[in-house]
Amino acid sequence: SSRTRSPSPFSSSCLSNDPEPGRVRVAVRIRPRIAADLSDADYPDCVEVQPELKKLKLRKNNWSAEYFRFDEVFATSASQKRVYEVVAKSVVESVLDGYNGTVMAYGQTGTGKTYTLGRVGKDDDSKRGIMVRALEDITTNTSPTSDCVEISYLQLYMESIQDLLAPEKTNIPIVEDGRTGEVSVPGATVVKLNSMDQFVQLLHMGEANRHAANTKLNTESSRSHAILMVFIRRSVPEQEGLDISLRETEVDKKTGRPGYHVPTIRKSKLLIVDLAGSERLDKSGSEGHLREEAKFINLSLTSLGKCINALAENSPHIPTRDSKLTRLLRDSFGGSARTSLIVTIGPSSRHHAETSSTIMFGQRAMKIVNAVKLKEE
Ligand code: ADP
Repeated sequence: SSRTRSPSPFSSSCLSNDPEPGRVRVAVRIRPRIAADLSDADYPDCVEVQPELKKLKLRKNNWSAEYFRFDEVFATSASQKRVYEVVAKSVVESVLDGYNGTVMAYGQTGTGKTYTLGRVGKDDDSKRGIMVRALEDITTNTSPTSDCVEISYLQLYMESIQDLLAPEKTNIPIVEDGRTGEVSVPGATVVKLNSMDQFVQLLHMGEANRHAANTKLNTESSRSHAILMVFIRRSVPEQEGLDISLRETEVDKKTGRPGYHVPTIRKSKLLIVDLAGSERLDKSGSEGHLREEAKFINLSLTSLGKCINALAENSPHIPTRDSKLTRLLRDSFGGSARTSLIVTIGPSSRHHAETSSTIMFGQRAMKIVNAVKLKEE
């Protein structure tokens, strides 16, 4: 028979109805002015959002502005809950359904990447970020007896992977299975998750280790990428609708795709990536170590940009080999994997150049090449 895998009710909302599977969804979040902007009092806001139109206006000066469209544009008032629901929930659902997925935050240091992804919300539940909410969704939708949820937490700094749950482990290699394309980091600590309290503790531990490691290296956390990996293994009863006509080792003559056997264990993973600050480090004329550092950060962000652009253009070749970051992401974006990118910006025109380049990164991911340029009266 040529039965194919039927989508579960969970996936029907996100994958099977998705006209553009594999496209990266891009949302922009602007943070409100905060105390740190006080010294920017002379700099008026250069960004205005039109959330209902999913548009954002970037003012260049008094006379001209550019408009950009995204999948979603959040106002400063957008709640953490709403950001999670729009940006991450469908990715989490597809991961629960057996597909890999990635949620990434990109933006200048200080614009809210960590606030959006990593906030624990200890004193205020409503402030919980995407990591905690994702794990809440995952734990409530998996069974502690038949499913298994595990996490690793890594830092990628200057093309070296460090274990944030065991900081003595550095330079951990990435392993790619040549046959299945599966990417893994077998040297990293993997912790089986039992409760949300435990997860929050692990997050704190990872943050503390990140801070300590970066103090030792004399760098800042904003210079490294933090990658939370969540592995899910679910026992699936032999289902109606699974393609049992092909064995794992066979190849479908029509499509050339390898067949798969009926899985009794379904594996998937979710990557939540707090990217290094997108500010161009070379502009300050950095020297020596800083210049090396800038080169590596630029390398991974540039190669991430290239991969996202290739996905946006539906290119058959996604150039993931160029950096460790994209090698790690290789099996978790594009194809059947769901990917969301949240681009974070600040309001002040002091950072107009960085804000503009951040927005352009997001625009290229959306493949909207021609931004509408309008003159202001
Ligand atoms: P990044 O990770 O991009 O360097 P952070 O997440 O550390 O930035 O945010 C910088 C500062 O801005 C923090 O003090 C944070 O609490 C604040 N902040 C960021 N986003 C928001 C937001 N949406 N609402 C209120 N404060 C925010």
